[in-house]
Amino acid sequence: MQRIEEILNQAFASPENRLGPDHPEPAFDAPLIGVSLAADPIWRRIKDHIGDFYWLPHEAFALAYPDAPLPATALRVISWILPQTGATRGDHRACKQLPSPRWSLARHYGEKFNEFARRALVAGLAKAGVRACAPALMPQWSRQASPDYGFASTWSERHAAFAAGLGCFGLSDGLITARGKAVRAGSVIAAISVPAAPRPYGDDHRAYCLFFATGKCLACAKRCPAGAISAQGHDKQACHNYIRGVTAPHVQNDQLGFPVNSCGLCQTGVPCEARIPKNAGTNRGPERKEGDS
Ligand code: SF4
Ligand code: SF4
Repeated sequence: MQRIEEILNQAFASPENRLGPDHPEPAFDAPLIGVSLAADPIWRRIKDHIGDFYWLPHEAFALAYPDAPLPATALRVISWILPQTGATRGDHRACKQLPSPRWSLARHYGEKFNEFARRALVAGLAKAGVRACAPALMPQWSRQASPDYGFASTWSERHAAFAAGLGCFGLSDGLITARGKAVRAGSVIAAISVPAAPRPYGDDHRAYCLFFATGKCLACAKRCPAGAISAQGHDKQACHNYIRGVTAPHVQNDQLGFPVNSCGLCQTGVPCEARIPKNAGTNRGPERKEGDS
């Protein structure tokens, strides 16, 4: 585990973690890192919920290493959370209809860094003789339509983070972590034997959302300019339409000169922006503050 943390923290401290090639600021604050067992039954439950197309960790590993697959018991899923910086959250909190430039930079260049972190971990483990793969970067990864959840994919970074004890899903579908919901996530599957992180919330995937804990909040619904969030949950189609039809063209025409699927207004200006809200979930795990890794 120490080696994994070293590789990820090294990637995090590198110039790749920037809001742009010449930007002086980091894209993200220090990561949270967790591990789940590939043999954890939670993975089967996730697959049953999302759809047959969804990969169990050992299925993804077998696609990456078709000549030498391994059983789930020999694999771990390493997951991380990349918190948006206070500056990015502050800028974005002030926005009502369109994303802040800083958020759009984090969405584009921050995700490039997230890709770099996945590759760095796979390469770093390979140097130590450990086989690994990053499902979200595999050529077989694809978007899919889930019978029950609409837009989905063969691997979900947020579900990997949930399995690794890093957070639970809010009403808006974002992952509420110890550093809040204004985050990105990444993961790598590796043939290693390290202990899994505890999941303080068990299988309760809504434990950290105030709406499910108290019946009140809906702050994310009020923040959404597309009306895509309600007490019934997150309307992925309405969200998709707003991003493709309004915010991505705005980023192209008025911000960066190229389209970026940037929005996330529901991730700031809400009680779960940078922490697990008070009064939500009793099994919260250790509190983490800005700067904690
Ligand atoms: S803003 Fe409130 S209702 Fe929405 S995800 Fe956060 S805690 Fe849940
Ligand atoms: S990402 Fe934007 S459009 Fe989608 S739910 Fe959040 S605020 Fe609404």
